[in-house]
Amino acid sequence: MKKPKLRELKEAVRAVIFGPYTSKYPFEPHEPPDGFRGRPVFDDNGGCVGCGACAEICPALAIEVHDEPERRLRIIEQRWDKCIFCGQCELNCTTGEGIRLTKEYDLATLDRSQCRQQIEHELVLCEVCGAIVATRKHLLWVAKKLGAKLYANPTLILTADGSARLAPPDVSRPGEPAIARNDIMRIQCPACRRTTVARELWGQ
Ligand code: SF4
Ligand code: SF4
Repeated sequence: MKKPKLRELKEAVRAVIFGPYTSKYPFEPHEPPDGFRGRPVFDDNGGCVGCGACAEICPALAIEVHDEPERRLRIIEQRWDKCIFCGQCELNCTTGEGIRLTKEYDLATLDRSQCRQQIEHELVLCEVCGAIVATRKHLLWVAKKLGAKLYANPTLILTADGSARLAPPDVSRPGEPAIARNDIMRIQCPACRRTTVARELWGQ
């Protein structure tokens, strides 16, 4: 019973001599310790490839993906007024460097519309049906990871090396079937590629 009282007394004497343990923020700037989880920030210098995995994993639904195929644009928006600073987006980012939790903590505001950041990416669309394949940066990132193995996938070949294009991207072919043999060398979504290969191999 006595020991805790003595410890409190020691703390009180220490605080009188050396000042309080707590920081003087907001009267003085406060430097958070390493590992502090503050406002997440996207890396738009190539770290983020626009895959959207962070939006899938975010438990607070603080990251949203908005696709505009007609403008070939993907906008990823992060809102720190909804963020719970769990760090899952950083931990599970596909590239490992697309989003980072910073030491920014002074985020109080009366205007929540200011609490958002966006990052934009170019979308690659299927040249047969117009469906979204992925962002260009994401395809290039996958191609780089695969190295020589990328040559197994024409969509990756064409994205990584435009000069390899053997079939024009224009798909207006009156009189031809909806999916034809030369579509193999076009950028395709998985569904169109499956149909093209099945028709080529089995004539279905
Ligand atoms: S690269 Fe990382 S930060 Fe960018 S969209 Fe994918 S998971 Fe999110
Ligand atoms: S830190 Fe957590 S809540 Fe905030 S954006 Fe990332 S995953 Fe979502």
